Amino acid sequence: MDKSIILGLIQNTALLVAFSMIYDYSWVQQKRSKSILRKIITGFIIGGIAIILMLTPWIQVPGLVFDTRSVLLSLSGLFFGFIPTLIATAIALVYRISLGGSGLWMGLAVIVVSSAIGIMWRNLRPGWRDRNHLLELAALGYIVHLGMLCCAFLLPPENIKETIQNILIPLLTIYPAGNVLLGLLMLRQYKNWQNRKASVQLLEYEQRFTGMLKNTFLFSIIIDSKGNLTYCNDSFLNVLGYNADEVLGKNAFVLLTHPDSINAVRDAFTYILTGKTGFYNYESDIITKNGSKLIVSWNATVFKGDNISSTTVACIGENITIRKRAENELVKAKLKAEESDQLKSIFLANMSHEIRTPMNAIMGFSNLLGEPDISETEKKQYVDIIKNSSDRLLQIINDIIDVSKIEAKQLTLSLSECKLDQIFTNSIEAFRKSELLRHKKDLKLILNIPKENGEIKFISDQHRFQQILDNLLSNAIKYSETGVVETGYQVKEDAGEKWIEVYVKDTGIGIPDEKHDLIFERFRQVEEGRFHEGAGLGLSISKGILELLGGKIWFTSEVNKGTTFCFSVPYIIPERKHPVQSRTSLPVTDLKGKTVIIAEDDYNSYFYLRLLLEELNANILYAENGHVLMNLIRHKIPDLILLDINMPVLSGFECLRKIREENFQIRIIAQTAYAMPDEKEKCFREGCTGYIAKPISKQELHDALKAVFN
Ligand code: ADP
Repeated sequence: MDKSIILGLIQNTALLVAFSMIYDYSWVQQKRSKSILRKIITGFIIGGIAIILMLTPWIQVPGLVFDTRSVLLSLSGLFFGFIPTLIATAIALVYRISLGGSGLWMGLAVIVVSSAIGIMWRNLRPGWRDRNHLLELAALGYIVHLGMLCCAFLLPPENIKETIQNILIPLLTIYPAGNVLLGLLMLRQYKNWQNRKASVQLLEYEQRFTGMLKNTFLFSIIIDSKGNLTYCNDSFLNVLGYNADEVLGKNAFVLLTHPDSINAVRDAFTYILTGKTGFYNYESDIITKNGSKLIVSWNATVFKGDNISSTTVACIGENITIRKRAENELVKAKLKAEESDQLKSIFLANMSHEIRTPMNAIMGFSNLLGEPDISETEKKQYVDIIKNSSDRLLQIINDIIDVSKIEAKQLTLSLSECKLDQIFTNSIEAFRKSELLRHKKDLKLILNIPKENGEIKFISDQHRFQQILDNLLSNAIKYSETGVVETGYQVKEDAGEKWIEVYVKDTGIGIPDEKHDLIFERFRQVEEGRFHEGAGLGLSISKGILELLGGKIWFTSEVNKGTTFCFSVPYIIPERKHPVQSRTSLPVTDLKGKTVIIAEDDYNSYFYLRLLLEELNANILYAENGHVLMNLIRHKIPDLILLDINMPVLSGFECLRKIREENFQIRIIAQTAYAMPDEKEKCFREGCTGYIAKPISKQELHDALKAVFN
């Protein structure tokens, strides 16, 4: 091979390397979509290089020169695309025309063919870089230079053969090799740039990602395969109250987990490390530096290393303590709502049962009383049943009124001098005679009054005190089948104050621990939903009354062993003699020759009173309302009026006012259905001389008559 060819080739190679650098700096490193100006400028530069290549050719024969423009332009088409290559081709063509010579047509044809093949390769095989690029470049080199060989036929005929002989070997060896090498160089530059770009991007992403983890309110931690903390963000440190030195490198489970749940968390972590699940979501409690507990929802991802020791777990955690608490509150509220719903149904069923049961007996036996052939014994038995059932019904009604009054803070006390022993004896006697105890043959009722104190008199509300004692005794008897119900009291001193402490002890079913708070709530019972006598009001009323009396109530109990209820009230010693309310033993008042007006709008009530008064030989007049009453009084002043307070036309209180205004001096016994102590006082204030509460028993009427006539 001629020396000039080698020299030319070396020079050409240098230029092509320069060309590849242009590709690197002004093309691949620029934005992905290039501006048209950049394409034009690049086209001119490539065109310039083509001219320089043509300036350093090797001369075959004068006018027939060779250079590596074919390599340049084909690779230009392949790497730079249509516009730059078109401009470079045009420049090269112009320059080659200006050179002239016998090889002009071949020269022009080589320029056009090389560029066209390069551009076509780029467009027809767009993914060539990712396929076997070596083969692609070699194939391109051969096709371009076979094309160049064909172009030799455009030479003057006398030069064709010799030229082909001369260029055949370089065209099939050096030229394609040039294509391959230069192509590989440019490809490498392209790939290097791509790698550089990727690592810059990676760095950028990493910075963004780390910034995000650092500044988020979420916790982010990374734990190595041994469970040691290798990374944690500021939010994690701030909320837990640590600084980085105190946590990094420390075992996350020991540091953060409550000892009770450490094994469960370790198991979860071991499972995550296996990588069986890509993403693991779990909730755990973590302990802060000051010992408080947080609930965190974690999302954990495992980063697999080459081996288990290089595997790490990244966790993003959200502090859901407040949300969880709110959810728990909601669940509790829901349960409470459901419970209160259920209680409402139980209450209704219970009340219905409590009211209908005695009603059933009253109605049933009242009807039976009307049967023609019943014996005296049966009659007495039926009347007893009706009486007991009525008492029971009245007890419920009184309890409901009491509980409503306590709730509305309208219950008032009527304080007077009370004899403690007498209260106890009253209750014990009443219970010993009661239906409740009559059926319990194996249950004994014992009264244990300390003898050493003598007779204790104290200021309290006797009626209410008795009510509490009766409630407790009634429960003790009700919830015991055998054994003993014992009651008594002690006088105690506490912090310089004297107290009367009463106990009622039984050997009954007892009260389970978990129901201890509940039984003082109104309408609540230990065995809710199971019907037994009682509306669940007694204890709540007792507690309410004791609060008013300045006392308290408590109990101890053991299931199946028994219960002891205690209550205490202040022991207020009377300063001077208060009249003690006691039942009088005067003989029954005879009303012979006395006129009694019964003022009562309810005919049955009137009729009942009439029967009772007729037994006492009274002359009876009837006033069905206040207006009639006033007319009767004006006509003739009676000896007594039994005045219903709640009457139509003129109410009882209005009648009392008129009687006062018109200055009539008459004994008046008020009768009300409310049975409230405050109402009783009001009646006396308004001018009544006596008072009875409905339902009125014969004994109560007799007592009231004795009180007003004596
Ligand atoms: P009740 O009318 O249902 O007896 P209380 O308010 O008096 O209503 O009592 C509430 C509940 O407390 C009772 O239903 C019963 O379950 C329980 N209880 C009260 N006293 C006793 C006792 N001496 N022994 C066992 N359980 C009792």
